Amino acid sequence: MSKLRFRVVETAFKKRAVEVQVPKERPSEYFAKYVFNKEKMFRYLPSKVYAKLIDVIDNGAPLDRSIADEVAAGMKKWATEMGATHYTHWFHPLTEGTAEKHDAFVEHDGKGGMMEEFTGKLLVQQEPDASSFPNGGIRNTFEARGYSAWDPSSPAFIVDDTLCIPTIFVAYTGESLDYKAPLLKALRAVDKAAVDVCHYFDPEVKKVFAYLGWEQEYFLVDEGLYAARPDLLLTGRTLTGHDSAKNQQLEDHYFGAIPPRVAAFMKDLEIEALKLGIPVKTRHNEVAPNQFELAPIFEECNLAVDHNMLIMALMRKVARNHGFRVLLHEKPFKGVNGSGKHNNWSLGTDTGVLLHAPGKTPEENLRFITFVVNTLMAVYRHNGLLKASISSATNAHRLGANEAPPAIISSFLGKQLSQVLSHIEENTTDELIALSGKQGMKLDIPQIPELMIDNTDRNRTSPFAFTGNRFEFRAVGSEANCASAMIALNAALAEQLVEFKQEVDALIEKGEPKITALLDVIRKYIKICKPIHFDGNGYSDEWKAEAARRGLDCETSVPVIFDNYLKADSIAMFEKTGVMTHKELEARNEVKWEMYTKKIQIEARVLGDLAMNHIIPVATQYQTELIDNVYKMKELFPAEKAAKLSAKNLELIEEIADRTAFIKEHVDAMIEARKVANKIESEREKAIAYHDTIVPAMEEIRYHIDKLELIVDNQMWTLPKYRELLFVR
Ligand code: ADP
Ligand code: MG
Repeated sequence: MSKLRFRVVETAFKKRAVEVQVPKERPSEYFAKYVFNKEKMFRYLPSKVYAKLIDVIDNGAPLDRSIADEVAAGMKKWATEMGATHYTHWFHPLTEGTAEKHDAFVEHDGKGGMMEEFTGKLLVQQEPDASSFPNGGIRNTFEARGYSAWDPSSPAFIVDDTLCIPTIFVAYTGESLDYKAPLLKALRAVDKAAVDVCHYFDPEVKKVFAYLGWEQEYFLVDEGLYAARPDLLLTGRTLTGHDSAKNQQLEDHYFGAIPPRVAAFMKDLEIEALKLGIPVKTRHNEVAPNQFELAPIFEECNLAVDHNMLIMALMRKVARNHGFRVLLHEKPFKGVNGSGKHNNWSLGTDTGVLLHAPGKTPEENLRFITFVVNTLMAVYRHNGLLKASISSATNAHRLGANEAPPAIISSFLGKQLSQVLSHIEENTTDELIALSGKQGMKLDIPQIPELMIDNTDRNRTSPFAFTGNRFEFRAVGSEANCASAMIALNAALAEQLVEFKQEVDALIEKGEPKITALLDVIRKYIKICKPIHFDGNGYSDEWKAEAARRGLDCETSVPVIFDNYLKADSIAMFEKTGVMTHKELEARNEVKWEMYTKKIQIEARVLGDLAMNHIIPVATQYQTELIDNVYKMKELFPAEKAAKLSAKNLELIEEIADRTAFIKEHVDAMIEARKVANKIESEREKAIAYHDTIVPAMEEIRYHIDKLELIVDNQMWTLPKYRELLFVR
């Protein structure tokens, strides 16, 4: 075996679980130990300041700058007591990661010494040197400056020695350069629109929250094996590698016993996550070998997004302490399942859940139906946009690969909810009203009060499935920032709810009773949004044909899917809801196209290097041995016999010659194709060129490399193979 490969496999194989330092306290006691949460605010802030800050956090009251100094002082006191020496504004630039720049708490004290210092000004706003974050041209044309501004709705926390303050990141001219600013705007828009609609049913409702419970899938690979794979190291996925003889076909990994080294990692991760206030709850093996999942209890959407970003960073860190590397890429291995990040999404009021079908009172049920139907409408109208919100160069490998939802957005409702909707659709208002009870609001639709939506009625092939009290947006990529999907979904629903209210109000003004008006509009919507409803098998080819007939977005080229952001109805929706301006959308798309190109470009380079530095030399070396053998056969045996005995080797020699020639030619052609693509000015056209020419070229090259892997002497092969990456743990 190639010496390096042999050594790393052996080392990985011998590793044992690391012993985890379990805190003496119970989880409930160390939960949020490193978070400046309400409990600590209460302890460290003057009571008036505390009350004002809580009003900002709970009710979205405007932030009174005059309290900033006192909040900063309280935060600093707590943080320094906890051993923190630095602080940072922590934000989500458009890179899919988080950004931070640490500053020490120290300042000159004016007497030649130093003092710990952290003012309200530093807490509220900073000006990070932001020129190297992606901005889609916004800052080049105006000012190079960008500001980060405190988001009080997500609590500050300590990582190592640094107090991290969640912030938004905006340009000097006000355009958002991050995920959080538009997310907060979308959440505000949906809050306002949903509260207005709730008032049809309950005038007491003051606030509507969007909730998010993400499920994070990931792979673990031994770090030695990882280091021996330049593709994993540089792109997060394997660009070559033949299927291992066994992978997931026995279905023996899903929910199986967790391997001890992995269990130790999970335990360690959970302890660290809990200390940071992330309410992790579920862990299990996933479908593919060495694939796992982690899920917390759902939280308010903004906080959940922050927590997901934080946990991804934490996973990377903790994995290293256990000799692992965590792979968050959507498709690290060809031929086995990829990883997603299911976004369980729902709405709730300050008085209860909205997407829950409790079957207690008819009003609650009509309210439930109202929100379900409006959600379906929003998803229907913006299905292309929602797809764009989850699309990326990396997620493209997973969607439509018969393991994840297809690249078509549809919604699964299950038998019972489908029946309820068709019942409403088919019955005239008169009939429904006739069924109603005595008092005005006591609508009695017999089917609805019985509503017990069965949680077990599942469809794993649906990208947007109703699962009892929430929708599960399953098409989100494992590596993505959840905010992208959550911005699109919540903003689209906000727009939809505003229009719903306008339509209902118009009918009420014409004299229709409220319930009749609500039902009339709902009935109309059920008819309109029918094309989005699909309970069948999303993996089937029939569905692809059917979806196209229904007019759903079936585009599969990621750069073209991004066009959805700049379609007239998307721009109108984002502008009406105040979430993003046309200019911001254009800038973001520039970033998306650029990112797409860069990712494929890096992969193509790495594949070229692998082909030239690993594959061809090793294959040629083996071929030389075979040739040598053929010559020696000739010396040993009479010509005819030698030819017969060498037939197989001659075939192999030829096959290696053919395949390496193909690989070399195509690597050269791919380099030329890149040169052509790189000259294209427009980011969109460039990304399309990469998609149309480079991606297929990589596939072809890989095909021959993987075939070589099967015939070349195992001892010479330098790259750890799938069986080692997936089964050594
Ligand atoms: P499954 O794998 O069966 O879908 P999990 O237990 O792994 O279920 O994950 C379900 C996720 O959905 C959890 O994060 C959970 O907190 C979340 N969730 C449950 N109810 C809601 C809700 N009403 N709104 C948002 N998320 C929810
Ligand atoms: Mg799920």
